Amino acid sequence: MTRMDLMEKIVSLCKRRGFIYPGSEIYGGLTGFWDYGPLGTELKRNIKQEWWKSMVYEREDSVGLDAAIIMNPLVWEKSGHTKAFSDPLVECKLCHKRFRADEQEEIKNHEKDHQGKGEWTEPKKFNLLTEVYLGATEPKQKAYLRGEITQGVFVNFQNVVSSTRVKIPFGIAQIGKAFRNEITPGDFTFRSREFEQMELEYFIKPEEKEGEKMFAYWKEERINWYVNLGIRKEKLRFREHAADERAHYAKKAEDIEYESPFGWKEFEGIHHRGDFDLSNHGLKYQDLETGEMYTPWVIETSGGVDRAALFFLIDAYREEEKRVVLKLHPKLAPYKAAVFPLLANKPELTTKARLVFDMLRPVLRTAWDDRGNIGKRYFSQDEIGTPWCVTIDFQTLEDNTVTVRDRDTTKQERVKIDKLTEWFLKIIN
Ligand code: ATP
Repeated sequence: MTRMDLMEKIVSLCKRRGFIYPGSEIYGGLTGFWDYGPLGTELKRNIKQEWWKSMVYEREDSVGLDAAIIMNPLVWEKSGHTKAFSDPLVECKLCHKRFRADEQEEIKNHEKDHQGKGEWTEPKKFNLLTEVYLGATEPKQKAYLRGEITQGVFVNFQNVVSSTRVKIPFGIAQIGKAFRNEITPGDFTFRSREFEQMELEYFIKPEEKEGEKMFAYWKEERINWYVNLGIRKEKLRFREHAADERAHYAKKAEDIEYESPFGWKEFEGIHHRGDFDLSNHGLKYQDLETGEMYTPWVIETSGGVDRAALFFLIDAYREEEKRVVLKLHPKLAPYKAAVFPLLANKPELTTKARLVFDMLRPVLRTAWDDRGNIGKRYFSQDEIGTPWCVTIDFQTLEDNTVTVRDRDTTKQERVKIDKLTEWFLKIIN
């Protein structure tokens, strides 16, 4: 299987089983936009929930925020985005198609369309912020859809400090949509025009040593989070940005990259933003104990929910002898369990199976399947990553046990119905 075959299979599985569909597909779609189906929605929710648990609930030093997507346009001026949030673009003089100047491969490929002739304009900066127009009367007020969720945290820095009991060092966590007018959306959901970010802005004292220590700390924390949720370690690496590729705000930046079928690709950045943002917004922090006043530095962890979902899916995808299996971590799997009556036409089995299904459903996302034979049902659940299949058979009617079949080992064991919920929760957690 070539790498691109793998991508085709994943895109097709996502569509066929309800993970990800092309956005507004019945009208021919819209480049750079995707819709998550019933299973993709669960996967994304699980990713966000695990992230929130680890970045907010399990910590004493962070709080959450949910800022508006559209902000006063002054925010984007002060943050430097109206000036510097851009990619250099070149335009094909023959057909006026535009490409990112740094995407040499795409440019070469495009030249093939013109029999190898390439005539390009000089690179020109293209701003990635998406404009929106507000109000009913002309002239309408121009604003932007946020290009990153980060600024919502900075503009609320003072609000959070004065309305909560946070003390430096502390973090503000946020998950939400961001929009970029990407020039070359592609690689499935990898580069979209609408996407979701999960970010922590961690505020520290402006000291070199503290900056280095916290930067190293957050790198470790974040890569371990992915590994603990099942991504193979050897598929991950850090890549440090060279001085000339660092974003306008960053003192230091390293990406967590995944070895995808389309190359090593970034899906989270750890950024040392220094005092760039708080200074630009004219914000300071006062230590209430010492009276000391200063502009904190910020270490940021900036991940993409969609890229994480895509790489979790790619990493979990396996083809084994007679089956396709998504080896998703149980915490991420859309369904934790599937319940089957051995035979659909035996009311004593289906009634009992319904009882088990009703017992599990409020606690764990559980699927029901009574179509076809058991082998087909296993096949179908393996393909969407359900870790356990529970079968109610004739022995169940005698001793109140069920068979639980494990997705990864395909081994079966008998578990008592009244111990089943506990049994699952213990393994998942
Ligand atoms: P790239 O170089 O791929 O354009 P970036 O360096 O501009 O990415 P950041 O500004 O650091 O990305 O954004 C942080 C995270 O947001 C990224 O690591 C990624 O997971 C996510 N992200 C950024 N742009 C997109 C996009 N167009 N589609 C999906 N996710 C994105």
